[in-house]
Amino acid sequence: MPVRHAQKELIRHRLSREQGTLKKNQGLRVALLYPSPYPLAMSSLGYQTIYRIINLYTPHTAERAFLPDGRWEGPLLTYESLSPVGNMDLIAFSLAYELEAPGLIRCLELCGLAPLAQQRQSGEPPVILGGPITVANPLPFAPFVDAMVLGEAEGVVGSLLECVANYPERNRLLSHLAEIPGVYVPLLHQDRLPPPAPPVLADSGPLPAFSPIITPDSAFPSMHLVEAERGCSRSCTFCIMRRSAGAGMRLVSDDQILRTIPAHASRVGLVGAAVTDHPRLLPLVETIVESGREIGLSSLRADRITSDLVRLLGRGGNRTLTTALDGASRRLRQELCKGVEADEVIQAARLARDHGMSRLKLYVMVGVPGEQGSDIEELIGLLREIGQIIPLVASINPFVAKANTPLKDAAFAGIRTIDRRLRYLRKALEPEVTVKAISGRWGWVEYALAQGGMEMAPAMLEAAAEGGGFAAWSRAIARHAPRFMRWVAG
Ligand code: SF4
Repeated sequence: MPVRHAQKELIRHRLSREQGTLKKNQGLRVALLYPSPYPLAMSSLGYQTIYRIINLYTPHTAERAFLPDGRWEGPLLTYESLSPVGNMDLIAFSLAYELEAPGLIRCLELCGLAPLAQQRQSGEPPVILGGPITVANPLPFAPFVDAMVLGEAEGVVGSLLECVANYPERNRLLSHLAEIPGVYVPLLHQDRLPPPAPPVLADSGPLPAFSPIITPDSAFPSMHLVEAERGCSRSCTFCIMRRSAGAGMRLVSDDQILRTIPAHASRVGLVGAAVTDHPRLLPLVETIVESGREIGLSSLRADRITSDLVRLLGRGGNRTLTTALDGASRRLRQELCKGVEADEVIQAARLARDHGMSRLKLYVMVGVPGEQGSDIEELIGLLREIGQIIPLVASINPFVAKANTPLKDAAFAGIRTIDRRLRYLRKALEPEVTVKAISGRWGWVEYALAQGGMEMAPAMLEAAAEGGGFAAWSRAIARHAPRFMRWVAG
């Protein structure tokens, strides 16, 4: 089958398996572009929420497009109308992670657009970016876009679209966009970021956030996603969701959450940075499970896991209990203000075992500032103990300092240091404990993107052009941001 025909067939096939697709043909035509493939995009509550808000709460139309899963020929197409994305009135990206940068560049190229904003022509659609990345360090992405919405986009999306509709001439558009709270226009603001968009209430207007589309082809198959709360009331020093970074924790009532669940949803995912801090979580989960649906929670703090909760999660189809330790030792967790004790994680493991779950998954960071060999030894002891209770998967990630956190200036531990600790952990733990780790190399690339400025844009372009492997990133960062090279040998 010719490639272009197969591409359209895949789109039609996926659409035929969706429930809740929104089709409209009115006002501006906005391409919502996700720089990762369809399954990941459809598991993004933020992406699905903007799609719903534009189509249902503005006089404009949003259609979806994604980084292709494999080979792609010809212009990138939207799913709803099979229109070339480059012909739309506006292209809006949602970017979650630094390492999605090559996907963003490839999408722009597939749209027939020059990746850098200053190289694009005046008649081409403006490119706007939003999403979780804007809460951390948006500067490396600034040269690719005409504007960014910093922070929570729901409150400003209407005014932004009105600007695009009213000012077709690029320079006038940019100067009006720059007047919207939280909208950063790189050409005008340069590297001076305006304050983020005012935080929204989690339950007003078109909120709470929920996914209008349910599909078996999502990374969370056939799951209705709904925001149970927004933000966090805690203060972990490494986390961009911490209380002081936004408006704290904003709750959605259980009635409002339940009202979003359509009759055909057989699985429900409750989303939020700190879902287990929701005071009505247990009755909410119970109601959903009693209705015969499966349930998923996006975040479980070990000190909030109770026997009743694990029992309900087990009844709701969960076979894995997932939680985060973050710091390797008690001392480090105290320094990170994480507030989770080893005993609480051990208790969570026992509850998971007692309620018939098949494994515990635990997130840990290595390379945290001040980490010593003794911290790693303490971690090994704890993971071995948990591994004797229930099969354990340790998901170990290098610590990467993020902007807008108290640890924003903390140095990267170094590729060699991280990889040495990972090797040591594997040797001490496998095969009794399954270790899944992100290498020091990719932690370092993430660090350069999390800490770099606009000089990272040409580095991203070169790395993407040379295949996006680590060697390509290393050469590109050496050329454009050599200050990060000291952590290669460290
Ligand atoms: S790590 Fe979790 S508990 Fe800590 S601030 Fe972030 S979201 Fe809140």
